Amino acid sequence: MTTTLDLSRAAKPVSPVNLSGLTRDGLRQALIDGGAVPADKARMRASQIWRWMHQAGVTDFADMTDVAKETRAKLAETFTIARPEIVERQVSKDGTRKWLIRTAPGIEIETVYIPDVGRSGALCVSSQVGCTLNCTFCHTGTQALVRNLTAAEIVAQVQVAKDDLAEWPSDKEDRLLSNIVFMGMGEPLYNLDAVTDALDILSDNEGISISRRRITVSTSGVVPQLAALGERTQAMLAISLHATNDELRNELVPLNKKYPIAELMAGIRAYPGLSNARRVTFEYVMLKGVNDSPAEARALVALLKGIPAKVNLIPFNPWPGSPYECSTWPVIETFAAILNKAGFASPIRTPRGRDILAACGQLKSESEKVRASARRKAAPDAEAAA
Ligand code: SAH
Ligand code: SF4
Repeated sequence: MTTTLDLSRAAKPVSPVNLSGLTRDGLRQALIDGGAVPADKARMRASQIWRWMHQAGVTDFADMTDVAKETRAKLAETFTIARPEIVERQVSKDGTRKWLIRTAPGIEIETVYIPDVGRSGALCVSSQVGCTLNCTFCHTGTQALVRNLTAAEIVAQVQVAKDDLAEWPSDKEDRLLSNIVFMGMGEPLYNLDAVTDALDILSDNEGISISRRRITVSTSGVVPQLAALGERTQAMLAISLHATNDELRNELVPLNKKYPIAELMAGIRAYPGLSNARRVTFEYVMLKGVNDSPAEARALVALLKGIPAKVNLIPFNPWPGSPYECSTWPVIETFAAILNKAGFASPIRTPRGRDILAACGQLKSESEKVRASARRKAAPDAEAAA
């Protein structure tokens, strides 16, 4: 018997580079390397294309009306500026919006827009699909890391939100999207290169133009990367602290075993550019009977002494199978009062979008959930016993 090798299957098309994930320099170089633009015209063309993509928000080279027709055709042969697929869009009764975005097979990203946060509204973006860290109170932590997102995939989350909010052109007045927080899925400091490029793109004055002071990167405490984050991005820093002693933090945020609280605090004190106008935000999830006593509030005050800081108290958001309960309201208020009295602004974060599982720590992409339901179908008894 003879077999024929079907080569048409082997030769998979390489997906074209999405130009909206390239920094200005990267874009200029890509245009030259792709043979789309001669080197002496590259800077000027890159500027034009940049404005079309990030200022006007176009998704088709054909709309770049001041670029020569044959150049547009050449660009479309090699590159893309298309948006990824939106698998699901949900709107909470409180106005929070959540998108499930698929950028490639198996790569599903959750992004959340929260109105009335920051100057007008904040977008919570993901930096990874899943997470390698297993914080015990976090839904994302139960999903294994699929992979780091590219800069294009981070920028795409902002573009999708801007499409939905009708936020183009980027310099329009009364923008609904004023702030960006890297508080979605994943640990941004394990993907610092892509996060840095995304920040360069998102903050560029001739583009989406969200100031670096309105972009906050939240980390569970990857101490060796803190200085690099500050130097490379000038982003605002948020630290997921959640406990004031190593024993408890080891349990809640297992990364603490690698970088214990004393090291973390030293790293934070050295964060470039800290001042009273640029404070660190400490995130503290309120877990009933776990970390919410007045003694712990006082321990937190002692830990933060001398650091320009504010504290964000996050009522725990439950998710299916979560092992904790949220502290009661009076307990959270007592905790906040101790911090406030010591001079630390400590707003209690109102849970938003809980009805669509869009609140902090509830994100976990659909790809997993679909697999889980398929599993249930296949072996209902095993799943029920688990
Ligand atoms: N990995 C980064 C950024 C994403 S998590 C980090 O850990 O900082 C964003 C914030 O949501 C973190 O402060 C995280 O601790 C918090 N969070 C996670 N699960 C939560 C939950 N179930 N309820 C409330 N906040 C949660
Ligand atoms: Fe990862 Fe942050 Fe969730 Fe911890 S809290 S598991 S670091 S996403």
